[in-house]
Amino acid sequence: MRWKGFAVGAAVLLCPVLWWPSTALAERSTPAVRTDATTSAVPTGTPQPTPTPSASSPTSSTPSATPSPATPDVPAPARPATDTRTSKSEPFAVDGIAVISSKYRVNARFSPTLVATKVSSTGAGKVKLQKVASTAVTDLFAAAKKAGYQLTVRSAYRSYASQAAWYRTGDRNLVAPPGASEHQSGLAVDLAWLKGSTLVRGTDLGRSPAGAWLKRHAAEFGFIVRYPPGTQRITGIAFEPWHFRYVGVEAATGVAKTKSKTLEEYLGLAH
Ligand SMILES: [Zn+2]
Repeated sequence: MRWKGFAVGAAVLLCPVLWWPSTALAERSTPAVRTDATTSAVPTGTPQPTPTPSASSPTSSTPSATPSPATPDVPAPARPATDTRTSKSEPFAVDGIAVISSKYRVNARFSPTLVATKVSSTGAGKVKLQKVASTAVTDLFAAAKKAGYQLTVRSAYRSYASQAAWYRTGDRNLVAPPGASEHQSGLAVDLAWLKGSTLVRGTDLGRSPAGAWLKRHAAEFGFIVRYPPGTQRITGIAFEPWHFRYVGVEAATGVAKTKSKTLEEYLGLAH
């Protein structure tokens, strides 16, 4: 089957929101992607730059010998969030930050407003993202280029229908069901490094200098490594060094400070 021949570990193949760590896979997906680019302007789970109200320094218990820090170490809000949606045509969101996963699914009617993103793409055709993510990834690519890394998008927005097509024909142990893919948000990108004529992708990206640069600088542009190593029990997904999710600079910085660096923990969803 299609997965054979990829010299990558099982973790790579598990990208339930990606499904094409290889060019071959990407090419197979294009017909389905094209059929549902039409969007109805539904408000989406676009992250808002909402301040995280975590700087309430406990002055009462702070002795003079311990200066209260200007910035708390863990800005994650302590608010148990529950999914109270009556319709899955919008993603579950906490403080404006959408969460799409196997636990928090959306239906086919969730169709974010997208724009074309003019950055390098070596994956499934044109890159389409929500505007905030589009701007951010453009800036990210420009900064990476200055640092000497030509990045390229392998995958960005994916519709419910295209995910459904993959799910029908793919290995269900590896492919997420439709509605559970974060790519449907238009806020996630799968990246690779164009090192000359070589495409460095998948787990190789994570081990590369470009991957290290991304890990270090992604948050400055509002992106997080959405599925960090060793957090599958929280995110439900194995380590994906190529999958970046736009959450806004503040949240991205906050996520980087959480213990395991997961969005779930930052949003109080890790139980
Ligand atoms: Zn992905």
